[in-house]
Amino acid sequence: MVDFRTNFAATPIDLFNKKVNGAIDSALEKENAAFPPRKYLGPSAIGQDCMRKVQYGYMGQEKDYQFQGKTLRIFDFGHESETLMANWMKKAGIMLEDYNPKTGKQWEFEISVGKEGKVSGHCDGIIKGLKDHVKDRVEIEKYIHGFPCLWEAKSMNNSKWNAFKKKGVRESHFNYYVQVQLYMAFMKLTDNLCWFTSVNKDTAELHHEFIGYDAEIAQQYSDRAFEIIMATERGELLPRAFDDPTYFQCKWCDWRDTCWGKK
Ligand code: SF4
Repeated sequence: MVDFRTNFAATPIDLFNKKVNGAIDSALEKENAAFPPRKYLGPSAIGQDCMRKVQYGYMGQEKDYQFQGKTLRIFDFGHESETLMANWMKKAGIMLEDYNPKTGKQWEFEISVGKEGKVSGHCDGIIKGLKDHVKDRVEIEKYIHGFPCLWEAKSMNNSKWNAFKKKGVRESHFNYYVQVQLYMAFMKLTDNLCWFTSVNKDTAELHHEFIGYDAEIAQQYSDRAFEIIMATERGELLPRAFDDPTYFQCKWCDWRDTCWGKK
């Protein structure tokens, strides 16, 4: 007879966990390190506070600190959550196209800047309308400005999601607000409101908000993208947004040693 208890006892559970999770994290870190750097500037980066940081990312400057396995797993949760949100919306009868039906790929845009610069992005989807069977369709449609409209989805932890619900995306997550404005502008979806959906990763609660097109912000940040690309082509490093390396944004920056000359 096989003595399963002996097998269970062979490796202490803490050590077992450490080894298995170490193997998972190592595989994720290896996979991440093998991804070629992006060759374009994406709207998700443009709204960050520090232009130098955005520029480092755009120019493919090697990071001083690579993402650890835990961070990569959190990113994966985020990506999978977006797919879940899209599926939930579609099950409800919301006519969401999270892939361009003509190409079978994500909706995307690409703008050339300078000699070989590019601003490029992939949005989460476009909503074309509501099917007749949607529960409470008439009430829901009273809030909607019109279709087609941009759909953007984000997963957030409990405190970030609560801040978003209370204050709205512009105040709680300005970076996302800028991202949405650039998608609306570059994808020519400015006539209707963007439908922004976020899921709370701790509770699975959903909250939706409508965001109007803000031409001033779209212009300001597309100019910023242009400036970052042109400065990179001229070989100029843009100024730091902060003058203290101990400031929290610098402490969390992937290029903090390069930026402050410690490397
Ligand atoms: S370390 Fe600070 S100032 Fe330097 S790029 Fe990063 S965020 Fe900007």
